[in-house]
Amino acid sequence: MVSIGETSEATDNTVSLLGMNRKMLADWLVAQGEKPFRAQQLMQWVHQRGVIDYAQMTDLSKVLRAKLASLAPIRLPEVKVDQTASDGTRKWLLEVDGANAIEMVFIPEKTRGTLCISSQVGCALACTFCMTARQGFNRNLTSDEIIGQMWLAQHLLRQAGWGEQPVTNVVFMGMGEPLLNVNQVFPSAEILMDDWAYGLSKRRVTISTSGIVPAMDMISERLDVSMAVSLHAANDALRNVLVPVNQKYPLSELIAACHRYIANYPNRHVMFEYVMLDGINDSAAHAREVITLLQGLSAKVNLIPFNPFPGTDYKTSPHSRVLAFQQRLMKSGLQTNIRKTRGEDIDAACGQLAGDVADRTKRTAKLQQTIHFKRRDSKGSVKHG
Ligand code: SAH
Repeated sequence: MVSIGETSEATDNTVSLLGMNRKMLADWLVAQGEKPFRAQQLMQWVHQRGVIDYAQMTDLSKVLRAKLASLAPIRLPEVKVDQTASDGTRKWLLEVDGANAIEMVFIPEKTRGTLCISSQVGCALACTFCMTARQGFNRNLTSDEIIGQMWLAQHLLRQAGWGEQPVTNVVFMGMGEPLLNVNQVFPSAEILMDDWAYGLSKRRVTISTSGIVPAMDMISERLDVSMAVSLHAANDALRNVLVPVNQKYPLSELIAACHRYIANYPNRHVMFEYVMLDGINDSAAHAREVITLLQGLSAKVNLIPFNPFPGTDYKTSPHSRVLAFQQRLMKSGLQTNIRKTRGEDIDAACGQLAGDVADRTKRTAKLQQTIHFKRRDSKGSVKHG
């Protein structure tokens, strides 16, 4: 676990309360000469009631309220763009530090509301079919900025009439690789699942990874949360190309880590995401490879029709081939869903998220010469450039 200093001390010696889990907050309060149970009261105010003005927290002493206001000012990401798709999916472009932008998406369904949040500004993994990869990596988000997304979404959706608990599920499937930022992502997941905060069950908080094996083991050992793995190919040669981190953690190691996860959390499954790329990974032979690879593992498969973006050569598999792939997997006993593409008309679908990154990498600069990028003008509106 991270110490408070590591996660949340800002440059001006104030701390960021939003991103502290209960233990961190209690420790900090004790260091301030307060009783640890104040952490629960504070978490309820901030995360459940959505109150961030300490003056309104009437069950805390005036002295504590003043101390909090000066030592723990609450900073939230700033909404730069707010778009709603024709299917109701809502996407926000958020500015986190005056320079970096990230995206967050809310996907409403009949029985649940899923918030897809970002864990990093950009992404260091160069998955060839993902738009976020194109912009390169800038920095990790802090737990404060990660929970800031949840707080803001709840606040804005409550305002829009979605009821008291608009967000019922959270997926770490926005920008970034959450398992390359565990020091900030783990406390964030704990806050999401804490009954004094958002109280989501472990089945409703999902961390998605491209397969960072040592960090998957950290989940198995100390964070009981749902896990999704971006598979996309069941042979190393192809996965090395689609998900280059496979060169470091090949399939045999990835699947072994999944078995360890199931061994530690017996009644669970691993959700495998598989993007359907026309002529690349969608044949009957590929389906057989998936079946063989996942044999004996408690697994579900989510087939994701590829969402195109400017400059990509990949194409979405025809629907008939996606259906045939699903049938093959189902026949072998693998529960397989086809993910409905949501928010396409506002580029809010999987792999289409991109904010503006202050410090673009060489990879991006190189790609920019050949590819048209989505650009935002100075007023923050979205346009294609
Ligand atoms: N880095 C993490 C979190 C990102 S989750 C991970 O890799 O799991 C985003 C999901 O969308 C991943 O499964 C990713 O592989 C998938 N994805 C990325 N680009 C896509 C695209 N253009 N179309 C469909 N799915 C895509």
